[in-house]
Amino acid sequence: METGNSVLSSFGTTIFEVMSRLSDANEAINLGQGFPDGNGPPDVVNVAVDYIKNGINQYPPMLGLPALRKAVASCNARFYDLQTDWQTEVLITSGATEALAACLFGLIEPGDEVILLEPLYDSYLPIVLRAGGVPKCVRLKPPNWKLPVEELNNAFNNRTKIFLLNTPMNPCAKVFSLKELQTISRLLQKHNVFAICDEVYEHLVFGSAEHVPLITLPNMRDRCIRIGSAGKTFSLTGWKVGYVTASSHLLSCIKRAHQFLTFTTPPNLQAGVAFGLKKSNDYFCSLASELQCRRDQLALGLEACGMEVLRCEGTYFIIADYEATGFGGNDKEFCRYITEKARVSAIPLSAFYCDEEITKHIRFCFCKDEETIATAILRLKRHFGC
Ligand code: PMP
Ligand code: GLN
Repeated sequence: METGNSVLSSFGTTIFEVMSRLSDANEAINLGQGFPDGNGPPDVVNVAVDYIKNGINQYPPMLGLPALRKAVASCNARFYDLQTDWQTEVLITSGATEALAACLFGLIEPGDEVILLEPLYDSYLPIVLRAGGVPKCVRLKPPNWKLPVEELNNAFNNRTKIFLLNTPMNPCAKVFSLKELQTISRLLQKHNVFAICDEVYEHLVFGSAEHVPLITLPNMRDRCIRIGSAGKTFSLTGWKVGYVTASSHLLSCIKRAHQFLTFTTPPNLQAGVAFGLKKSNDYFCSLASELQCRRDQLALGLEACGMEVLRCEGTYFIIADYEATGFGGNDKEFCRYITEKARVSAIPLSAFYCDEEITKHIRFCFCKDEETIATAILRLKRHFGC
């Protein structure tokens, strides 16, 4: 008999952990799990170190340090012209992962339907199910990942409570267009549905793509919850500091879950992030432009190895179709194969679907140093004889 909770035991171990451990065991270059090389901006780290040594190390307020909540509210205004009250409309969480869980646990009643777009980030489905929600998956298809408007329309009904939107979208590196957001907005209003907007890659957008938070569209202010992550914005993924912006009636529901999940988040790290969010626009622009160079470097290298690379408008990730390499197995087998034989790791796209989906697509992470990417390409080229 299964001892643990049956919803959670049906998921096994997350693909990010599985691939990172396999990568370590093979001394491979890990382009699987999304984390940057390096140690983040030194000034941000120094503020946290200073607070650890000389400052706050006891429980901070449950909603987060006032300095960080103010900084989140002023970024909402600076980047999106979104006016928010830091006292009643901003909550600090232990990463976007906890923010998502707090939103889903705080809002879902057993039987409520939640619309999810596939391919989807791996924590969404288990948490929706554990909260008693009923997932309705709508699939975006490669190579363009366009929003399938008719299917989406059909997914809504009078039991739908929540729509979960991730833009810029992991793993397919899509940034939703204004037109797509307007379509979503119309459906939310028509069916009286709330949106949880996972915007952790908000500042990692390339070329002409523009990130528009759904909450900024007309009539969306009281319907949307916007989630960000300092892990991505400051290349410090291990810090796990996230932030939620929502109107006070929604935030009250989320707070009720947050207080019993983690209650709070390390205060010294919050102080570092508060400092970071006050950086000038130059910081945010160069974060994206540096990353765009690494994207292009990796894309060229993968193409030289015979893979077809899909369009990448944002995030840390690029998707490659490996069919032309001649490998006959599925995406999981291909990821294991290149980890063991070429000593470069990636993530199989099939891990991002609600039901098992066989794909020939794999996800590579490019938030790495130029040399790391160059070495990974060299290894792949050598292995495939290119
Ligand atoms: N959402 C998406 C789409 C992600 O890719 C990630 C991964 N980092 C998260 C949420 C979780 O973010 P955090 O590390 O801040 O919990
Ligand atoms: N968000 C990261 C990714 O997509 C992984 C985070 C995690 O390992 N939980 O690679």
